[in-house]
Amino acid sequence: MEQFKGKSIFHKIAIGKIFYYEKNQFTVKRSKIDNFEQEMERFEKAKKIALEQLQGLYEKALKEVGEANAAIFEVHMMMVEDDDYNDSICNIMKEQQLNAEYAVATTGDNFSEMFAQMDDDYMKARAADVKDISERLIAVLSGTSADMGIMAEPVILVAEDLAPSETVQMDKSKLLGFITRLGSSNSHTAILAKTMSIPAIIGVDIQKEWNGKLAIIDGYKGLITIEPEEDYLKEMTEKMEEEERQKQLLKELKGKETVTLDGRSIHLYANIGGVGDTASALQNGAEGIGLFRSEFLYLEQDHYPTEEEQFQAYKTVAENMAGKKVIIRTLDIGADKQVEYFNMEKEENPAMGYRAIRICLDRIDIFKTQLRALLRASAFGNISIMFPMIISVDEVMRIKEILEDVKMELKGQGFVYKEVEIGIMIETPASVFMSDELAKEVDFFSIGTNDLTQYTLAIDRQNPKLDSIYDAHHPAVLRSIQMVVDNGHKNGIWVGICGELGADTSLTETFLRMGIDELSVSPSFVLEVRKTVRDLDLSHN
Ligand code: PEP
Ligand code: MG
Repeated sequence: MEQFKGKSIFHKIAIGKIFYYEKNQFTVKRSKIDNFEQEMERFEKAKKIALEQLQGLYEKALKEVGEANAAIFEVHMMMVEDDDYNDSICNIMKEQQLNAEYAVATTGDNFSEMFAQMDDDYMKARAADVKDISERLIAVLSGTSADMGIMAEPVILVAEDLAPSETVQMDKSKLLGFITRLGSSNSHTAILAKTMSIPAIIGVDIQKEWNGKLAIIDGYKGLITIEPEEDYLKEMTEKMEEEERQKQLLKELKGKETVTLDGRSIHLYANIGGVGDTASALQNGAEGIGLFRSEFLYLEQDHYPTEEEQFQAYKTVAENMAGKKVIIRTLDIGADKQVEYFNMEKEENPAMGYRAIRICLDRIDIFKTQLRALLRASAFGNISIMFPMIISVDEVMRIKEILEDVKMELKGQGFVYKEVEIGIMIETPASVFMSDELAKEVDFFSIGTNDLTQYTLAIDRQNPKLDSIYDAHHPAVLRSIQMVVDNGHKNGIWVGICGELGADTSLTETFLRMGIDELSVSPSFVLEVRKTVRDLDLSHN
């Protein structure tokens, strides 16, 4: 048995086999074959596996993100079976006596180039799909398939690093925990681990040889044990069972009010990253959604999500939450959340760069599409819209103008929508200092402590080297929160926290004493925070 240490992201135990994930490197070798029939058989087999994988992905997407978003996998299945595509592959293998991987890669390149040249936008977008299916086929052929969507059994995922766009593809029902060499505890991948309530350990000296071996993650100690001895395995299995019993106890708090012993109540909402997370929010007793990070809709696709696709996603969340508040944040990409099809230039300092509302106010077409979808979905539930990374009143005025334009457009086209509440995220020092003015223009504030800490302390939240001094308890951050609450209340609006700090139960009392009206936390923290609030008595000093 070997043990390794890292930094723990979520306190939980996981026991399972390791799946070592390597990003596919598609360096396809070109080699001569001497038996075409045999190569053809190999190709047909790979096709069958690829189709099974795609069917699996389709069913998963159908459950998690609905019919409209799942349809892409149906398109992929049709493409794998497309006659022209298959004829071309077969031709290269037969006429040039070349291997299947090479034939698929060449055909994939040619077809994708052909689609890219087309005038029709729909056909243009198919270029990426051909590339995608070709890569899938090559991965199957070369036995390097590490498709995150098709892990056969529940596993502990080990990887160098995981980008948010990769984590969204994972089959979350098969994920027991993850271990990475890189990443920081404030990254979005870490947030995802918390949303999914699975242990994750970062900064570990991972090894490829671990693949397939039994391992234990001790999320309390940040410890990974490879091939555990029997006694240790028994001890940790018992601990895991105890953990489960505790979880059941907490469940008794489901449906109870979030109120202190002396009668002060707050709203306790959940943060989600997609339609699939609503189930977890509800199971954990969230009273609403305080932050829906809508950028994950953009990250999990290879094209701009259409108005219809977005509408379906927002509508589903609103309907699932059945009248409870659903606060949807508009697109917040840039910095660590890069989306390839946005074709953003490389920046020296992306955290302070072209991101979030700055992109939306520049690419008004993208922004308007999202606002149209949000307003249309508002007719189906209790949606509020929130804007990220605000630094000035001027930005808010421009947003409101655009929102009014979109409403007029929708009205003219006969769409119905509700008058939604609008709020802003307070996550820059500028918005803290301007909060007295900003409060006059919006219906609520939600403090994004992850970025607020980063910008207040000038510490890159992605930089693992600075993890130990990234201190969200810093008095500068806490004073900022107090200032925002006071300015919000002075102007009659409510103030919440949706950054990770909201779930820090060592600060729950402080937040309540500051006057915070709402906390929005990862679903797995809802009940723990509720328990903390219910045990508080604010009548004593
Ligand atoms: C934050 O910055 O605190 C926040 C909630 O937004 P994100 O973590 O998505 O940047
Ligand atoms: Mg933020």
